[in-house]
Amino acid sequence: MNVTTETTEPADAADHPTAIADVVILGGGLVGMTLAIGLAKAGLTSHVVDSADPASVTADGFDGRASAISTASWNLYTHFGMADELAPKGCPIDAIAVTDAMKPGRIDFRPGPEDGSLGRMYANRDLRIAMYAAAAREPAITFHPNARVVARERGAHGVSASLADGRVLKGRLLVGAEGRASPTRDEAGFHPARWGYGHRAIIGGLFHEQPHDNVAWEIFYPAGPFALLPLLDDADGSHRSALVWTVAEKDAAGVLAMSDRAFLAEIEKRMGSVFGEIRLAAPRSSYPLNFHHTVKLTEDRLALVGDAAHGLHPIAGQGLNVGLRDVAALVEVLSDGARLGLDPGDAQVLARYERWRAADTFMVAAATDSLTRLFGLPGKLPSAIRRLGMAGVQRMPPLKRWFMDEARGMSGALPELLKS
Ligand SMILES: Cc1cc2nc3c(=O)[nH]c(=O)nc-3n(C[C@H](O)[C@H](O)[C@H](O)COP(=O)(O)OP(=O)(O)OC[C@H]3O[C@@H](n4cnc5c(N)ncnc54)[C@H](O)[C@@H]3O)c2cc1C
Repeated sequence: MNVTTETTEPADAADHPTAIADVVILGGGLVGMTLAIGLAKAGLTSHVVDSADPASVTADGFDGRASAISTASWNLYTHFGMADELAPKGCPIDAIAVTDAMKPGRIDFRPGPEDGSLGRMYANRDLRIAMYAAAAREPAITFHPNARVVARERGAHGVSASLADGRVLKGRLLVGAEGRASPTRDEAGFHPARWGYGHRAIIGGLFHEQPHDNVAWEIFYPAGPFALLPLLDDADGSHRSALVWTVAEKDAAGVLAMSDRAFLAEIEKRMGSVFGEIRLAAPRSSYPLNFHHTVKLTEDRLALVGDAAHGLHPIAGQGLNVGLRDVAALVEVLSDGARLGLDPGDAQVLARYERWRAADTFMVAAATDSLTRLFGLPGKLPSAIRRLGMAGVQRMPPLKRWFMDEARGMSGALPELLKS
């Protein structure tokens, strides 16, 4: 990877020409930069522009989140040469326990030995470090961090992105990968369906007395889900889990302002004594939770990937996994197109990407949205109906197997990069 820095020279585009790449990716986050790695492996060049500084986004404490990486995403990381670095840092998810407010009638998703794991938990920081390391090995990537895009052009023969310092990056296809607030998506006139849940996710880390036995807990409360996600023990053997506690937006400021003691007491109220005594392992942070989704993913010489196209509730830990499925599909259609001599911005190539991804992203978006609403219904009757439904699923192995396949991301027409 070649890394460019902002020039302090006078801003004159003609002074700062850069090589024409196959693809110009705006947003080099967990999805955009992984796309660049995949394109490089397929022999395609890219410019990647990100407004952030890689040193700050990989600093300890920048993003306290952890992500559940599905089997399909793990296969992608393996193909992209990231698995060796990531393997010792991930905590396998051997089972998922789902309960309605810790009442009786829970579902346990525990695959048999022949089925493989349900995924692995990673600190987002570790994913970013492995991603930058993999990108650094690819000369086909030119990375422009700390950069601000001031203009985007799409014409009949190519695309360009002008940076604030006068550099103009040229390519054949523009990709919007700037996450939920993607200016590329908005400027191009996409109209995603969007609504808010009135929820905010409080993120934190816990040390606990008992081992988690690689079990992820999803405990549903009317205010939103409360998830405990297994992490590897720390260097001195303390057991750890990541916490994602969804609270009503109006309560979030109060929860963030609580003393550590009061915060731990609230957590204990919600998780009971499943892990024995608990202590805080990381500072608290919070993320607003909104939904947006667009079935239309492409325009003339433009494609959207990741959260730029679909922002999901983290209830099922699928946002990044769906974004990595976008990456696998886009790399496959572009490299198939290149073999046939087609331009990366070719309308047929982009139409194939959109057809491939629209159904899957819609299904996942609809499922996570329905789950959020179903478990958010307050009252005894909805709770009783939910628990009846969960007891039914618990007793039906084929249905449980279907849910587990969905969590692994191994169902449907998979791009080759998601297969082992
Ligand atoms: C609380 C929480 C828990 C989650 N847990 C999981 C989980 O367990 N599993 C899972 O699969 N997903 C999970 N997700 C979802 C996941 O984090 C996102 O889907 C994923 O980060 C999306 O990646 P992205 O690269 O598309 O967007 P982002 O991660 O938002 O990256 C966007 C990138 O674009 C850059 N950028 C932004 N604006 C500009 C601009 N104007 N110009 C240039 N660059 C720009 C940013 O600096 C950033 O690098 C969770 C989300 C939340 C909120």
